[in-house]
Amino acid sequence: MTTRTPETDLGRTRRARRIGRVLTETHPDAHCELDHSNALELAVATILSAQCTDKKVNEVTPKLFARYRTAADYAGADRAELEELIRPTGFYRNKTSSLINLGRELCERYDGEVPGKLADLVTLPGIGRKTANVILGNAFGVPGITVDTHFQRLVQRWRLTGETDPVKIEHAIGALYPKRDWTMLSHRIIFHGRRVCHARKPACGACTLAKLCPAYGTGPTDPVAAAKLLKGPRARDLAAAVGLDPDLVPQQAAAADVP
Ligand code: SF4
Repeated sequence: MTTRTPETDLGRTRRARRIGRVLTETHPDAHCELDHSNALELAVATILSAQCTDKKVNEVTPKLFARYRTAADYAGADRAELEELIRPTGFYRNKTSSLINLGRELCERYDGEVPGKLADLVTLPGIGRKTANVILGNAFGVPGITVDTHFQRLVQRWRLTGETDPVKIEHAIGALYPKRDWTMLSHRIIFHGRRVCHARKPACGACTLAKLCPAYGTGPTDPVAAAKLLKGPRARDLAAAVGLDPDLVPQQAAAADVP
């Protein structure tokens, strides 16, 4: 894209929509990466995901969810036992307090059910606006934009907003896309941030968004160097999507943890 003349609001909206369409093609597998089967499990998993990879959370939750099935189970949990179960996710003492308090509040105020409204969710222990939007979008089908660290970095690189406050970013990006697309758009942007547009060395030379991105060149533009930076089980497909030889992607990239 040219940066010689300032971009109009209409131009930015059109570019944003194009970015959205390319992301849809690039990441057909995008989804919430925290395993869950109901709103309570998702709330618990998102609390555990603070300062921890989704992969690690997913290793811990099967045993946790089998042991604690209801809000009342968390409310009445034995602290030492719960701490031990979630210890691998880090900050386990604080997280244990959040889970027990979450269980108590849900029982006292919502008959043990996770509420489906943003205004209610953000009053619960351990649940901020980001977590609330994850729960709304993925457990209740209510469109929500999840501004995590990846989302924030990418929309700023794309110059879709100059805002730095997560709530303002949420509103600014929400205005660029139809509401029905918000949840999946969030997943796709986060997927792109984890697999291609890394914080320190984005894979610009192997990125499907190169032509739409003002930050192209932030990372290596050489295809061979860029292909080595692709991550995740579809890393070879991501290389092929920009016309690169999938064999340029190292074997370990597919198995690598995504942050
Ligand atoms: S071109 Fe580079 S900076 Fe832009 S989205 Fe792709 S990887 Fe990120």
